[in-house]
Amino acid sequence: MRAPEWRNWSRTESVHPVRIETPDSPEAVQRAVQAAARQGLTIKAIGAGHSFTGIAVAEGVQLLLDRLSGVVAVDEASARVTLAAGTRLWQLPKLLAPYGLALQNMGDIDRQTIAGATSTGTHGTGGSFGGLATQIVGLTLVTGDGHLLRITETENAELLPAARVGLGALGILVDVTIQCVPAFTLHAVERPEPLPEVLDGYLERSAGSDHFEFYWFPHTRLALTKTNTRLPGDAPRRPLNPVGRWFDDEVTANGLYRGLCALATLAPAMIPRVNRLAGRLTGDREFTDASPKVFVTNRSVRFRELEYALPRAAVPEALRELDRLIERRGWRISFPVEVRSAASDDTWLSTAYGRETGYIAVHRYYRETRADQLEYFTEVEKIMVAAGGRPHWGKLHTRDAEFFAGAYPRFGDFLAVRDRLDPGRLFRNPYLDRVLG
Ligand SMILES: Cc1cc2nc3c(=O)[nH]c(=O)nc-3n(C[C@H](O)[C@H](O)[C@H](O)COP(=O)(O)OP(=O)(O)OC[C@H]3O[C@@H](n4cnc5c(N)ncnc54)[C@H](O)[C@@H]3O)c2cc1C
Repeated sequence: MRAPEWRNWSRTESVHPVRIETPDSPEAVQRAVQAAARQGLTIKAIGAGHSFTGIAVAEGVQLLLDRLSGVVAVDEASARVTLAAGTRLWQLPKLLAPYGLALQNMGDIDRQTIAGATSTGTHGTGGSFGGLATQIVGLTLVTGDGHLLRITETENAELLPAARVGLGALGILVDVTIQCVPAFTLHAVERPEPLPEVLDGYLERSAGSDHFEFYWFPHTRLALTKTNTRLPGDAPRRPLNPVGRWFDDEVTANGLYRGLCALATLAPAMIPRVNRLAGRLTGDREFTDASPKVFVTNRSVRFRELEYALPRAAVPEALRELDRLIERRGWRISFPVEVRSAASDDTWLSTAYGRETGYIAVHRYYRETRADQLEYFTEVEKIMVAAGGRPHWGKLHTRDAEFFAGAYPRFGDFLAVRDRLDPGRLFRNPYLDRVLG
């Protein structure tokens, strides 16, 4: 009999693994890998199931690493912290507080595990800052032959650029060492602004601000900009008061989206008008708080997402093209389009590998029909690919190994590392068969 059904957050993937295991030590992970190999089963660790793609689907043995969580070691002099792989990002502020440390940059949410987030190249925004993987200076994984392999800047260093964004294909991560920074404060300014000006200023503002991003409400000329400026940890704080924050996030943002999304399915013609209202109601606030409280928002409305990383200079025109596409096709899109940026980095399968990057992300409410979602994502993907885009590994896309061989200069080197660490393809699944071949 197989294990109970597992479903991902966005309800795009499900599987009944052969069995589920919850190892509580690196040695227990090794035993699990060795046992799976003996039985001819595949094995995969999953994180919080927040990938939209099938990257975390474990058909054989599914490893849950909730018991491998917390701080493993701290080197206070170098601000480096080793975390057990199953640690959730939301645990970090408390875990790092005694050392006065923080993550350099974060994405929109903090539900993911540290191993799951880095494995797909999870990122936030900031023209001079990289995604989570760029903060990783070491890691330990259990390879296909059941051995523990430590990879750092000095030990097996040639594997680090592959393993930081490993897609779960190189082994089971048991810990990750992060280069942290002294805890800092962020000053947040959120404003509704005219879209044409925001697009014209996007490159300059991405390069000139610490963390710049914007949301564009389709069918409107409105963008909600968010500009976060880094301040010292002891800078005076002016947090949103909890009631105001709850109202903005839950009632105005999530509640409004929920209403909007429901409306989109019932009365799509209303969407442009309601989007205009949403653009005016959300944002236009200013506050200062500890960095995780500013980076992270609460997303309680379930959706599906496609996100592409473009050469940054291509972002404004790609977004204009997206705007024209939506109007031409007469679609009614209730979710705002999110635009972010990241610095060029040297992790082989990082979406920002070797180029200054801008991200465009599109979303659909999960209850809208599959056919509507598919049509939208398919057409948007064409624009993104034509603009030289690379898809987020954890978000919906249809690309395959042949595409990636052209998109990533070190793709062949990544495959060679995979051959070395997992020759028997113990960590494979259908998604990896498609994207890695
Ligand atoms: C609401 C929402 C908001 C999001 N916001 C952002 C965002 O702001 N920025 C962004 O870039 N992405 C974002 N994402 C995408 C998300 O960050 C990634 O998909 C991330 O990989 C999910 O982490 P997870 O812990 O859920 O991992 P899972 O989705 O469970 O797994 C992802 C991959 O990691 C592998 N993995 C997990 N643990 C291990 C391990 N111990 N060893 C080896 N491999 C392992 C899995 O096998 C799989 O290949 C968002 C997703 C959602 C649903």
